[in-house]
Amino acid sequence: MSGNRVVVYQGPGKVSVETIDYPKLELPDDVVSGLGIKRSAPHAVILKLVSTNICGSDQHMVRGRTTAPIGQTLGHEITGEVVEVGDDVLFVKEGDVCSVPFNIACGRCRMCNEGKTGVCLNVNPARAGAAYGYVDMGGWVGGQAEYVMVPFADFNLLKFPDREQALEKILDLTMLSDIFPTGYHGAYTAGVTTGSTVYVAGAGPVGLAAAYSSLLLGASVVVVGDMNADRLAQARSFGCETVDLTRDAELPDLIEQVLGEREVDAAVDAVGFEARGHGEGAAEAPATVLNDIMSIGRAGASLGIPGLYVTGDPGAVDENAKQGQIGVRLGLGWAKSHTFVTGQCPVKKYNRQLMNLILSGRAEIAKAVNATTIGLDGAIEGYEDFDRGAAKKYVIDPHGMIKV
Ligand code: NAD
Ligand code: ZN
Ligand code: ZN
Repeated sequence: MSGNRVVVYQGPGKVSVETIDYPKLELPDDVVSGLGIKRSAPHAVILKLVSTNICGSDQHMVRGRTTAPIGQTLGHEITGEVVEVGDDVLFVKEGDVCSVPFNIACGRCRMCNEGKTGVCLNVNPARAGAAYGYVDMGGWVGGQAEYVMVPFADFNLLKFPDREQALEKILDLTMLSDIFPTGYHGAYTAGVTTGSTVYVAGAGPVGLAAAYSSLLLGASVVVVGDMNADRLAQARSFGCETVDLTRDAELPDLIEQVLGEREVDAAVDAVGFEARGHGEGAAEAPATVLNDIMSIGRAGASLGIPGLYVTGDPGAVDENAKQGQIGVRLGLGWAKSHTFVTGQCPVKKYNRQLMNLILSGRAEIAKAVNATTIGLDGAIEGYEDFDRGAAKKYVIDPHGMIKV
């Protein structure tokens, strides 16, 4: 095999598809030199991509809102067929179709042993936690590609029990690499349970997945807030209530109009640091959602915060925000004894159970997020449409393996 076509960041607002080397069973330079571990990776496999999705997390880089360098390969939402197996891989076989958690984890460190795979200590010299195709995340090559290398394969891969069934349900199963577990984690860590009232900020794919997961967890009412009318309609399509944040009104008032109460039992931030303020055409105001969920979370509530916050943002609205310091009204959350759960979703904690829900026909996540298949070259337009707020989750099908 010679080359590998992959989606690459080319500067703010631009991606292209480039040919790079076919992957080897080797760790990236950053990890080898930074952690002083050997390059060869007999614990790894090569996957032929069956599907790989575009994510709001990719958009932070593509909008120029991170320190991602030009040439950064993209893609962390990976589902693929095993085509090459390292000598130390025991339980994964060629031909297996597998979901790959976006978090890269060694399966051997203290954090992995505690199930905290989003903060593995052995995969990124810069900080705890790594991901494929992401700035500051260890230099692992992205998976919006034809092929990708997955290390520590016995630990990281979730094998689908039946290949044919997997290919039938691939548009649902492809969401297991990130947004379905991430949305579920948001709802679960916000304490959503039977009868809960829930507010989900953001009707992008993660917000929709959090809203859908809240219903799976038994919520009585799920209210989704966004400024994007198409995305709010998507949330209503599977039984959510919505609030339109272009309206010039305080969030507790809007919530009261829906619930008859000004607070909810559980709230989820599925927006992150690129949040906009409320009202028609409002400017970016990065602490908006954190302050919103504190203002409407009842006393004692947990707040699930999958929305991403950064330690540095070159495109930020002010000098403080450039250092990742934003105007959070922490006293409000303190006074209400709120619990905050942040960080990468530890995908492995949830992906097997959510797979079972999909395979048994009890979770239709693809429909909820409006999964839409495109080719690898279609990624260029896909990124543009997604950036404009299309009410779609783009699924790249690099080898034409997805039956529509
Ligand atoms: P997205 O950009 O498609 O969606 C964000 C939505 O938030 C948009 O529809 C936008 O209109 C809306 N929005 C903006 N300001 C708002 C406000 N004040 N209130 C309510 N809605 C507002 O992104 P996505 O793919 O849905 O991802 C959402 C967030 O989750 C991103 O920050 C992403 O990086 C993060 N993420 C985190 C994890 C994790 O493991 N923690 C995993 C995946 C994604
Ligand atoms: Zn993602
Ligand atoms: Zn680890």
